[in-house]
Amino acid sequence: MPAPHHDVVVAGAGPAGLSAAAACAAAGLRTAVVAGSLSPWPATYCLWADELESAAPGLGLDPAAVAAAYSPTVVRTAAGGERRLTRRYARLRNDVVHAALLDRLQGSGGELVPGRVTGLRAEGGREVAVLADGRELAAGLVLDARGGGPGTAQQRAWGEVVAGPVEDLVPPGGALLMDWAALADPAAPPAFLYGLPLDDGTVLLEATSLAARPPVPLADLRARLTALLGAHGLRPAGGPERVAIPLDAPPRAGGAGTPVGAAAGLVHPATGYSVASSLRLGPRVAAALADGGAPAARGAVRAARPRTTAGLLGLGLEVLLPLDTAATDAFFAAFFTLPERTWAAYLDVGSSPAAVAAAMARTFTALPPAQRAHLLRTAARLGGTRAAAVLGRPRAAPRRPGRE
Ligand SMILES: Cc1cc2nc3c(=O)[nH]c(=O)nc-3n(C[C@H](O)[C@H](O)[C@H](O)COP(=O)(O)OP(=O)(O)OC[C@H]3O[C@@H](n4cnc5c(N)ncnc54)[C@H](O)[C@@H]3O)c2cc1C
Repeated sequence: MPAPHHDVVVAGAGPAGLSAAAACAAAGLRTAVVAGSLSPWPATYCLWADELESAAPGLGLDPAAVAAAYSPTVVRTAAGGERRLTRRYARLRNDVVHAALLDRLQGSGGELVPGRVTGLRAEGGREVAVLADGRELAAGLVLDARGGGPGTAQQRAWGEVVAGPVEDLVPPGGALLMDWAALADPAAPPAFLYGLPLDDGTVLLEATSLAARPPVPLADLRARLTALLGAHGLRPAGGPERVAIPLDAPPRAGGAGTPVGAAAGLVHPATGYSVASSLRLGPRVAAALADGGAPAARGAVRAARPRTTAGLLGLGLEVLLPLDTAATDAFFAAFFTLPERTWAAYLDVGSSPAAVAAAMARTFTALPPAQRAHLLRTAARLGGTRAAAVLGRPRAAPRRPGRE
């Protein structure tokens, strides 16, 4: 029996899958998305307001309706004090975004197929998604949006909602992007406090380990957050948020299907973020598929994450991982002294390698001499010819044979 034919089948309906499917359907492509769950996404998703504003029109979204925007965005470090960033931070209203993308998908004739994809295969110039119940969906292109694979390094966070406001921690109307001083403990792995007012007047506070290999146990982050809440006379007022994001999972490779979102390695190796990149990518894939077919769509996916940029950001992660609390604090104090466009480029997996290398070099230059030396020693331990070059050292020291 011939399998039904679509232009595109999307496996998975997280932010990457649903936005790509909605964009494809709206571009007039015969689209089906296989969704394991039909509920709005449970995680709290944030991105920069300008990223949402630039991605939203392509998805037919109204940025003011689908997200809460914050100002100021605050970073606190022991080394640099409080810095108020003018770049606004935003939190997606998942129920609104999810419903709007579903409407766009189904209103444009796209099909929502509840189920699980158990296999993908290429067959006679088309691709086929095999579902757990035995159904098969064939298409010119299958987008694999089933999420990222496991990694050895992870971002972890434990979050609690508290009755707001908590103005000594989170600025009114603003977002606390990172406070490296609030949870500082030289005997524990580096962790920062993250905080956002929610729509109901409560505030989400999270103890976050930015990046660690092996990952920091969630119980440790919970204990650190609980101690902080106790010190401020605060109590949890809702269910916890548990965050575990693999940071170094490679893109799914081999076999049929084109990965998008976390499956494509779009997760930023230092921040764990991928939602903005995925929202931006969906309409680009749709346009490429409509204009140039599957090869053009695969090209659009590759362009979302330039390989050299990914290599540099991966190196940046390796440099961050061994830093202790003081060095991490000093690193971010320096990083946020850079011009906004410089640090913003570092936080985007789609940036050019030159922009990322420039941010790395400028951060290095902005560090105090002791922290620069610390970073160089760390880079050298990594086998640092490349690292030293990126960090702006005129000439890398030759590696001695037999020394790692
Ligand atoms: C708690 C938490 C908070 C986060 N916060 C942020 C943030 O603020 N900003 C940010 O940018 N990133 C954040 N991230 C990281 C990252 O962006 C998310 O992991 C994001 O969900 C990745 O989107 P995705 O669509 O690629 O994959 P997922 O969201 O993992 O979506 C994959 C989807 O595919 C479905 N699926 C899986 N297997 C199958 C199958 N076999 N068949 C059919 N469907 C399948 C899953 O059910 C899921 O719906 C956070 C992650 C977590 C866990």
